[in-house]
Amino acid sequence: MSISEMVQARKELVNQVLEVYPEKAKKNRRQHLSVKESDCSSCAVKSNGKTVPGIMTARGCAYAGAKGVVWGPVKDIVHISHGPVGCGFYSWANRRNLAEGEVGIDNFVPFQFTSDFQESDIIYGGDKKLEKIIEEVVELFPNAKGVSVLSECPVGLIGDDIESVARRMTEKTQRPVVPVRCEGFRGISQSLGHHIANDAIRDHIIGKGPEREIGPYDIGIIGDYNIGGDAWASKKILEEIGLNVVNIWTGDSTLEMLQNGHLVKLNLIHCYRSMNYMANYMEETYGTPWLEFNFFGPTKIKESLLKIAAHFDDSIRENTQRVIAKYEAEMQKVIDIYRPRLAGKKVMLYVGGLRPRHVVGAYEDLGMEIIGTGYEFAHKEDYERTYPQLKEGTLIYDDVSALELEEFVKDLKPDLVGSGIKEKYVFEKMGLPFRQMHSWDYSGPYHGYDGFPIFARDMDMAVNSPTWKSIKAPWMK
Ligand code: SF4
Repeated sequence: MSISEMVQARKELVNQVLEVYPEKAKKNRRQHLSVKESDCSSCAVKSNGKTVPGIMTARGCAYAGAKGVVWGPVKDIVHISHGPVGCGFYSWANRRNLAEGEVGIDNFVPFQFTSDFQESDIIYGGDKKLEKIIEEVVELFPNAKGVSVLSECPVGLIGDDIESVARRMTEKTQRPVVPVRCEGFRGISQSLGHHIANDAIRDHIIGKGPEREIGPYDIGIIGDYNIGGDAWASKKILEEIGLNVVNIWTGDSTLEMLQNGHLVKLNLIHCYRSMNYMANYMEETYGTPWLEFNFFGPTKIKESLLKIAAHFDDSIRENTQRVIAKYEAEMQKVIDIYRPRLAGKKVMLYVGGLRPRHVVGAYEDLGMEIIGTGYEFAHKEDYERTYPQLKEGTLIYDDVSALELEEFVKDLKPDLVGSGIKEKYVFEKMGLPFRQMHSWDYSGPYHGYDGFPIFARDMDMAVNSPTWKSIKAPWMK
């Protein structure tokens, strides 16, 4: 099939899948689906819009974006899921943002703290209860450097004033108590939760830390949540080239790292979607420059390291060349093992706000091809960063529904699907290799030179597992 025929066939597939919807939903969803063509102005999809009711979106809410993503990983702050028990319970320890430290002493990441609203809290308000909980937190966990209050849906609906509780308790406990208005009814996805969480750091945390000298090689990593140890793998390379990683936002991070995020020579941003707000703010307010980088797969790591080194002196630039040469030899060994087992395999992705574009290079290093990709909650600038990386004919889907993704996969027959926990078992039952691309399927890290061999091994393990030959009973073949 020629490329133009393939583009045409995939456009027809989109039309066919849309047929099932009522007129209004069809019109809406059509704007979120596209096929990459040579002239990419035509492949711009609409994004960051409200989900069509009832279509089984994979999206989460602002609380997930604020508590689950941005605030939850900060280890020496106690994060209170403020509201009924559900949201904190379901988001308890299921995002693999690893943190070092003594659990319960100076690391509270593995805990669930909640105000566990009852009917009386809805009727009379939860502010008094919140005050009492903060007092108890400080008494029981005296090393907690601060408290964040992550609002769940009811808080904003019943007229509670968590800001004034936070002001009073900041004074009383002599540590920052941060109100975060991330009720799940706000916005249309996790994305507004990121923004609200960034604004809370801006308003209550940044610039309020202990004095700190800035060394010539001090840098910060912004938007790495240390899934399966990703941020540690990234930090390791940056330190090998001679830089000094003093802050990570927010995987394995501390209150002090947030307070002094601006006191570095350069901020490196991995997840642009969730933290561009604070990167921009630090640049505008404190003049701290930032740049985007990508540590998935040797090609992107090399490009990123050279870009980062260009900001520093000759010694860093020389170290960078040496480190790249050392690791490229190691990475070539990985490629020699796995590429013959994976080359030519087709992949479809569907993840949140960064990985649908950021992992493309790592797959390509293994000779694999991305034939479909899309985001849950990306904005226009994310898609603009994505299109140049995609081949013609790639299917692009924004806030894809469960039905659409299933139909696309059935038709395009990829060799591997990379998506989330809600998708995993559907596709495995269809007999398709699947890897979780949020949780790394309890593996990882995937970032950095330490991560790539694990990534390659995991993709091989999924694609070439003998299981797939046993999906059909022998008498049905
Ligand atoms: S939408 Fe509301 S109730 Fe649901 S998880 Fe988010 S904050 Fe909790």
